[in-house]
Amino acid sequence: MNLKKYSIGTGDRFGYQGKALLKAIIKAKENGIDLAVVWNKSFREHKLINTKPSDVLGEAQSAVQALNWIGDYYIDADHINLSNVNLFIDSCNFFTLDVAEYIGKPAPSNVIREFVQKHKNFIGKIKLPVLESSIYIKKSDIEESAKKYLTTIEEAKKIFMEIEKKKGKNNFIIEISLDESKEVQTPLELLIILIAISEAKIPIQTIAPKFVGEFNKGIDYKGNLKNFERDFELILAIIQFTKTKLILPKNLKISIHSGSDKFSIYPIINKLIKKFDTGIHLKTAGTTWLEEIISLALSSDEGLELVKEIYKKAYDRYDELCLPYVNVIDINKEKLPNPEKVSRWNNKMFLNVLRHDSSCEHYNPDLRQFLHIAYKIAAEMGSRFLNALEKYNKIIAQNVTENIYERHIKPLFL
Ligand SMILES: [Zn+2]
Repeated sequence: MNLKKYSIGTGDRFGYQGKALLKAIIKAKENGIDLAVVWNKSFREHKLINTKPSDVLGEAQSAVQALNWIGDYYIDADHINLSNVNLFIDSCNFFTLDVAEYIGKPAPSNVIREFVQKHKNFIGKIKLPVLESSIYIKKSDIEESAKKYLTTIEEAKKIFMEIEKKKGKNNFIIEISLDESKEVQTPLELLIILIAISEAKIPIQTIAPKFVGEFNKGIDYKGNLKNFERDFELILAIIQFTKTKLILPKNLKISIHSGSDKFSIYPIINKLIKKFDTGIHLKTAGTTWLEEIISLALSSDEGLELVKEIYKKAYDRYDELCLPYVNVIDINKEKLPNPEKVSRWNNKMFLNVLRHDSSCEHYNPDLRQFLHIAYKIAAEMGSRFLNALEKYNKIIAQNVTENIYERHIKPLFL
């Protein structure tokens, strides 16, 4: 199974927007962007709203059938680990191994010594493809990265072996994700991580590092764009370098776990993937849930009241909702409006505050982050919420398609 050059990881919390999402991919294809679709849902999302991987498979299959999609599509077991991988074996053919919690658990010193010895040919100056520049690797760089990451890669190997045992060789795609940690990987560290993955014979087709800057849920990139561009360019050069120097799949590419809406880095990524003629995998699923609630607020008084109710209940359970997302949010609670105040908003105001338009004076990124992670409340409403998704499907689906195509696919790939 080979993931094509450009792919998009998408999906929705409640399984109602499969067709609307696929429509955006079809629109891309009509405009010359050939994307593989990866329906992704993390273990965390399944747990919070009580869905199963087979639900995602069912949603994908029915969208594919309804719209006669003949392109590639996959089902991603997103952010899984050894303790839950078996829940995903039957329904998934794309596995994102989240081993971030192992970062920094030191490997035994003899293992580190052996690793350094075996890869001392990388010590010194490395000329990077495409760029006019080189990087310099010291013995201590390899030692330090080995200490920090070898246990992490060993854990990924265990999960990979478990999947391969059940699904058979080459029947699935592997991604390793390190993004949900506090540790940024420098380009040089990433090279040493890739050396370790190559040695462990884990045939990853994508890898999601944690980049410099902040990737918080639902809002734009926070950080220095120049630093991001510098690192991202080096990372793409390193990916090219590994293709001739390491035993990794030739289609290896970077996966961006956007956490939704990293608009300001899209033009940089677009420019650089073209410069290196390389692929990219973009994950962006949560943004669709926000489109659902924005659309409900716009749809009718009934829809607006429902969304206000979600906010009020979420506000009262702030700590509980934030806990599973603590590494990927940065919410200033003081900036969250009191639900009593929100209860007086009309739908226009709701739209202004929640829609990701930083030029709007009412836009509130703290509220947007908070609602991004508050979907558990909607899940608890059960059929009341789901019926509203169905009743107002027309406006929701339109916004979902437009959001993914206009705000994500176009700036990133076109
Ligand atoms: Zn992620």
